Amino acid sequence: MKLLESKICLEGKVLSENVLKVDSFLNHQIDPALMNEIGKEFAARFSDEGITKIVTIESSGIAPAVMAGLHMNVPVVFARKRKSLTLIDDLLSATVHSFTKNETNEVSISKKYVCENDQVLIIDDFLANGQAALALVEMVEKANAKVAGIGIVIEKSFQDGAKKLKELGLRVESLARIASLSNGEVQFINETVKELV
Ligand code: 5GP
Repeated sequence: MKLLESKICLEGKVLSENVLKVDSFLNHQIDPALMNEIGKEFAARFSDEGITKIVTIESSGIAPAVMAGLHMNVPVVFARKRKSLTLIDDLLSATVHSFTKNETNEVSISKKYVCENDQVLIIDDFLANGQAALALVEMVEKANAKVAGIGIVIEKSFQDGAKKLKELGLRVESLARIASLSNGEVQFINETVKELV
């Protein structure tokens, strides 16, 4: 998605060979117009899958997931990282090791919101080693619902998350695919190389 790639080039900061910071439009401040386009793009790419629900994980998956939900006219459920006083019964849970925080969390969604007949689109902001997406797949499958696809805003294709998900037979659609973050540069899979400002 060209608009997203341009935004990454203009505002992304390469923190290391493995980590890209996009706090100005996705992970802290959010660009609503860009999120709207991202939602539209996910809706177009998964229009043939009969999606009935979107599942994401707090917090940075929520903005793109909500915009996709708006364009697909389906509800959005986000997995929560801490059990709260109000999220107590009939939970589906899985364990996620966070790539950026280097900590392991149990994440949960209520059984009430993912049902047996749901065709679920999983959405997240980044795909690195696939831990977050795999935890979401596990919870959806525990609910006996079907994972119809996985939509990722930024895939770091040099890490093995996409490979793991595709090996499970899952359809992965990533709007920006990064081949490398070497030398402080973002190189996209489509060969565009831009130096970050
Ligand atoms: P995974 O579970 O696929 O290893 O990592 C994906 C999760 O880690 C995403 O939900 C995202 O929050 C975070 N993440 C992974 N890599 C990056 C990165 O390069 N930049 C940022 N901002 N977050 C990342």
